[in-house]
Amino acid sequence: MSKRIKIILVGITEFTTAFALLFAGIIFYQVYEKQIYEDLKLMASLIEEMNYLEVVENNSGNLPGKNLRISIISEDGVVIYDNHVLKEQMDNHKDREEIIETIAVGEGSGHRKSKTIGSRSYYYAKKMEDGNIIRIAKEVSTIGHIFYQFCPLIICLVLILVIICLVVAQYFTKKLLEPINHMANHLEDNHLGIYPELLPFMNRIRTQHADILKSARMRQDFTANVSHELKTPLTSISGYSELIESGMATDDDIQHFAKEIHKNSTRLLTLINDIIRLSELDATDGQGSFELLNLYELTKTCVESLQLNAEKHGVTIDFMGEDCKINGSREMVEELVYNLCDNAIRYNKVNGEVHVTVGKKGKRVILAVSDTGIGIPREHQERIFERFYRVDKSRSKRTGGTGLGLAIVKHIVSQLDAEISLDSEFGKGTKIEVTF
Ligand code: ADP
Repeated sequence: MSKRIKIILVGITEFTTAFALLFAGIIFYQVYEKQIYEDLKLMASLIEEMNYLEVVENNSGNLPGKNLRISIISEDGVVIYDNHVLKEQMDNHKDREEIIETIAVGEGSGHRKSKTIGSRSYYYAKKMEDGNIIRIAKEVSTIGHIFYQFCPLIICLVLILVIICLVVAQYFTKKLLEPINHMANHLEDNHLGIYPELLPFMNRIRTQHADILKSARMRQDFTANVSHELKTPLTSISGYSELIESGMATDDDIQHFAKEIHKNSTRLLTLINDIIRLSELDATDGQGSFELLNLYELTKTCVESLQLNAEKHGVTIDFMGEDCKINGSREMVEELVYNLCDNAIRYNKVNGEVHVTVGKKGKRVILAVSDTGIGIPREHQERIFERFYRVDKSRSKRTGGTGLGLAIVKHIVSQLDAEISLDSEFGKGTKIEVTF
């Protein structure tokens, strides 16, 4: 970045310098040209005022005007006097542009390479009172020639400018980048000096940084929780199988131990399934294959499949609603409905009720699962969607919970672009609503 800024700064300076030089050169040359014509005009007037014919006819020396070429030309283009070339050697000048102009309008000017003397000259011609034309010419350097003459000076000037530019660019680049370097090393510092424009950028980095730290901490917690959750049933399985292996257990014990081993391995399987499901949801974030689903039919089937489970818990479950279509992945929506209804059954009281409804609210579709169960104390309500968070750990484990059900629900809700709300009163019941 610093290299780029330097190149840009030097480039801009060099370009403007070159442009300024060129512009100044053109202006200078125009002023120079104008001045030449003014001088030639003045000289022509001076000669006209003096008795020039005497000098010309008597051949008595030269007309004034050092370094100037003076020609007197008759109306028909014949050169009658020239201070540089013998008039006999000169051809008719009627075709010269300044003469043509002078014959037409009384005076004329032009510049070209002289046919007679070969160098580049500026011409000014004027018709005098006696009808003759006086033409004054001055040999001048071309702009290229002037440039060539000044070339060493221009090169020196450009070199000095390049050096100055480099030093200034170095200084300014350093000054320009200082706050950015400072920011990179002191993300927590709010006093950014001269760049308040960097604040939003910095805030974004800070938020991202905090998010990264948070997700790293969550992953760490999750790994620790998973290890702990896996360890408990595995320890039981290992302990009971060791007792059976030692041969000290009676037939009754063996049956009891086998039951415990079966219970714990089922628990392990459920846990592993939930963990796999969560990581699958993490991996397919927003990329599930969506289709148009009839939420009413889907929920009805799910509720029916849970009837037996509800009976086992001494709970009644009912369902009502209307045909509602939503866009989503069948597997995900089934899982969502199942988890919510399963919780409503497991965290219920004997003779409790679960009511499941599907309906429309304006353009949106709502799935509501309410129960008359144990409810969730207010202080826990915020956290129940966290992974492995349980209000009553022993009840959760006893009923086959893993602490991951609502975490999976939350994940699915976010993937379906839906919203979830919880309304619960401790001891009275819970209502969870998902708005699609
Ligand atoms: P679990 O597998 O333990 O049920 P969840 O993630 O499904 O885990 O739920 C987290 C916790 O939220 C549960 O342990 C329970 O304490 C509480 N909970 C969830 N649903 C209900 C409900 N309908 N009524 C009362 N408590 C609930």
